[in-house]
Amino acid sequence: MRLVFMGPPGVGKGTQAERVTTHFKIVHLSTGEILREEINTNTRLGREAKAFMNDGQLVPDDLLLEKMNNRLRQDDCMEGYLLDGFPRTLPQAQGLDSILEDLNQSLDRAVNLTADNDELIRRLVLRGQKSGRDDDSPDVIRKRQQVYRDQTAPLIDYYRRQQILTEVNGIGKISEITDRIIRSLT
Ligand code: AMP
Repeated sequence: MRLVFMGPPGVGKGTQAERVTTHFKIVHLSTGEILREEINTNTRLGREAKAFMNDGQLVPDDLLLEKMNNRLRQDDCMEGYLLDGFPRTLPQAQGLDSILEDLNQSLDRAVNLTADNDELIRRLVLRGQKSGRDDDSPDVIRKRQQVYRDQTAPLIDYYRRQQILTEVNGIGKISEITDRIIRSLT
């Protein structure tokens, strides 16, 4: 199974992605995690990505596409994967489509997790207090939400037009949301 996971910052994408990949025994590819790892190991990509991330901006498309083009060709991806936080822009979605075409693969579903804005801010502020992530401060959170609305939300229509969009309510108990997602995919 090949999935894309979408949703605004704070909707619980990462948590649900982890649970859904365990259920379906597929690889969880979080570009946020991948980029944080590149920063920690001080690679060229990490050095280039860091300032954008700390500022709540998106890392440039060509960097993400180069990284994912390599990553999706690795053996562990052949049985399926869940893309968490990628694509985040229209050019990334188009780039992903051409990587997939090259690999003779296609996406099964794009899951969009939804929640209202007040709930999202509440969750992000809580996460910021716990995680110590540099990009979970209130100012950067607001910027990431704006970036989401401008650049990522249009992907919902992109996948709706491809007829692979599934919308799932992201409010409720963690286990209930996981059940909703799994039910929507089987
Ligand atoms: P996340 O952990 O998914 O919230 O991502 C954290 C940060 O990493 C984002 O605010 C972006 O700066 C960067 N990032 C993650 N995925 C992407 C992507 N697909 N395109 C551009 N930037 C990304």
